[in-house]
Amino acid sequence: MPFSSYTGEKPLIYSLTQDELKEWLVGAGDKAFRAQQIFDWLYVKRVHSFDEMTNLSKDLRQKLNETFRIDPLREITRQVSQDGTVKFLFQLADGHAIETVIMRHNYGNSVCVTTQVGCRIGCTFCASTLGGLKRNLDAGEIVAQVLMAQRKLDEEGERASHVVVMGIGEPFENFDNLIAFLRIINDNRGLNIGARHITVSTSGIVPKIYEFADKGGQVNLAISLHAPNTELRTKLMPINRGFPLEKLLEACRYYIAKTGRRISFEYGLFGGKNDQPEHAEELADLIGDMLCHVNLIPVNYVPERDYVRTPRNEIFRFKRILEERGINVTIRREHGSDIAAACGQLRAQYAKETAG
Ligand code: SAH
Repeated sequence: MPFSSYTGEKPLIYSLTQDELKEWLVGAGDKAFRAQQIFDWLYVKRVHSFDEMTNLSKDLRQKLNETFRIDPLREITRQVSQDGTVKFLFQLADGHAIETVIMRHNYGNSVCVTTQVGCRIGCTFCASTLGGLKRNLDAGEIVAQVLMAQRKLDEEGERASHVVVMGIGEPFENFDNLIAFLRIINDNRGLNIGARHITVSTSGIVPKIYEFADKGGQVNLAISLHAPNTELRTKLMPINRGFPLEKLLEACRYYIAKTGRRISFEYGLFGGKNDQPEHAEELADLIGDMLCHVNLIPVNYVPERDYVRTPRNEIFRFKRILEERGINVTIRREHGSDIAAACGQLRAQYAKETAG
């Protein structure tokens, strides 16, 4: 495994589903039902150590201490925007840094989580891929991000109601840990985040879209589409060479048929590249008959990239063309634009500082 996760000397307790914890308990000579109690301590009471789990025997607490790690994320910085957005920079046990974001919506609070340290997909507009991929995150390192966000929200009496897997990394390249993560945060004895309140975004790893349709339950799927034809998509996203647009859309149709869920297409508007009326028409031809929704993303400025913003009136023109063709469209609202920078840039900045 060239890009295995870091487990250190001990696995993280947050990497276990409740069923796996039951198995471990039985193997350790204890009762399966204690898994529920442990989940309650971890995810409802949100304690920081096994020693606080006072309804477990001393012996069991000691075994837990010997076997598992707990509380793996150290907060390096936290930036709070005027609109309430919180951007965390966390350090992992092996020193790598990752980002997690809390966003406020009228329907609740969503947490945007990272799944890999870096990324190797190489999208030409994205900051997260600039330094390549370092490693996959463990399931527990992804779960812990939601937990840390919830602890911050606890200070306000608020709840993390939604999760978007749209942080650093390509989640479908870390598939098994992603699925475990989804099971753990969805557990109604734990963080209890409803499947329909979770969205996973992929750059388009086609075989994994099929697998996700089969294993992801009612979890929402978003596809980073960004182009209405395969030539243009290859220019923007080299992954389109391996998984061309036509195959990608076939997989999307399978997901829709299998789950009955509407799919989201993310379409970044990159000034002059893919944002003209003819692109909107072509996009409508391409996906107009699918059960879908298009989320237009005005490009986030990345210093290392030379993409420019589409003027506002042109963004609205693009949207209108799709709507006239009966497609459901939103424009992604910017969160926390007054703090740090766009996705992946906090980490990039930190990497630069610590290297220099
Ligand atoms: N790797 C996954 C998850 C990332 S989600 C994926 O590719 O889907 C983050 C979304 O923001 C993706 O749609 C990504 O393509 C988009 N994105 C990345 N860099 C961007 C930028 N500079 N401007 C606008 N959108 C960007």
